[in-house]
Amino acid sequence: MQDILGQSKAVTILQSALTSGRTHHAWIFHGAEGVGKFTTAKAFARVLLCHAPQTDLAGQLEACGNCDSCQLFSHPDAAHPDLHIVQKELAVNSSVAQIRKRKLLSIPIDLLREFVIGGETTDGKFHDAIASKSSALRHSKVFILDEAHLLAAVGQNALLKTLEEPPPNTYFILVTHQLDQLLITIRSRCQAVSFGALPDDIIHKWLADNDLSLSERETQWFIHFCNGSLGLAQLSKTYDLVQWARDILPDVVSMSKGKPAPALGSTMAEKINSLAKAWVDSHAGASKEAANKKAAHLMFHLLSQYARSRMQQIAEQAPLDDPITNEQHLGPWLCLIDSLTIAQQVLSSNVNLTLVMDHLASHWQQAVNTQCYEPLRWR
Ligand SMILES: [Zn+2]
Repeated sequence: MQDILGQSKAVTILQSALTSGRTHHAWIFHGAEGVGKFTTAKAFARVLLCHAPQTDLAGQLEACGNCDSCQLFSHPDAAHPDLHIVQKELAVNSSVAQIRKRKLLSIPIDLLREFVIGGETTDGKFHDAIASKSSALRHSKVFILDEAHLLAAVGQNALLKTLEEPPPNTYFILVTHQLDQLLITIRSRCQAVSFGALPDDIIHKWLADNDLSLSERETQWFIHFCNGSLGLAQLSKTYDLVQWARDILPDVVSMSKGKPAPALGSTMAEKINSLAKAWVDSHAGASKEAANKKAAHLMFHLLSQYARSRMQQIAEQAPLDDPITNEQHLGPWLCLIDSLTIAQQVLSSNVNLTLVMDHLASHWQQAVNTQCYEPLRWR
């Protein structure tokens, strides 16, 4: 666990649980996407599953690296029989044909029944509860529920009993970036650990290790865009989001200075579309709908980070004691940030992507260039 980057607060909480010898059996790791929650969950699982954890020089409990369990962890291709990772992608392995065929948008209760809590699935088959079986290596078992917010309320309710009366030596780690989507009853049974944004120097270091050939200004943009998420840095590399910025931001800047940018809406829509396609092509069973949402979310993040950086500049330039000027200058940008949320909601109701992006672009131009601004309206 000493290799986990930039999450010393979370690691300290987990270490003190481990060294106390009374580790809670149910955890929620929450915080922004791409800050190391899932990586930490696996590292924590490695210590929990280790047959002979050792205290290192810093007084931290670490996995021994030699026992049967640790050996399995060091072979990335060997599945550990006592580490159960439940995520929506697991659906492709389901014995329930209906689940195998469906689009991966959520974690269906059938998947939970088949791989964790047992019970009857919609095809009438009965599954034993894997959570109640003894561990294969005769030590302990860990279940990591990735993107746990994708479990609908019915699934979360079904999980409650297992969390309340956990089988011996069995641990559950629910990983989520949407804590508010978990039922209060689930949250109250778990110990929550919050993961903050990673410090900028970690993104700087990542950039040094991954040469993206960025200019100094682009480096600054990149750090701001990633906002403390290594996951986002990696995604930006895979899908060349720096090129998005190069192609889109000049239009956004000139539009914000009053020059029209008629092609901006369709350029944004094209980029969202092609990222979504690339995503579906490289993720077996991925749904185009979910990929569209993900790609659009990245575009809205790019736009909102630009609006935020403009607001920061305005706030730095304007005299502090001049609330009216501040309000006049900041108002349109605040309004645009609200509009991005509205555009995102409109998109989830399956409105044509190019239409939404076109509408958003002309709304942007109007908001920053006139004194009459109000959030985006959609009829
Ligand atoms: Zn070990």
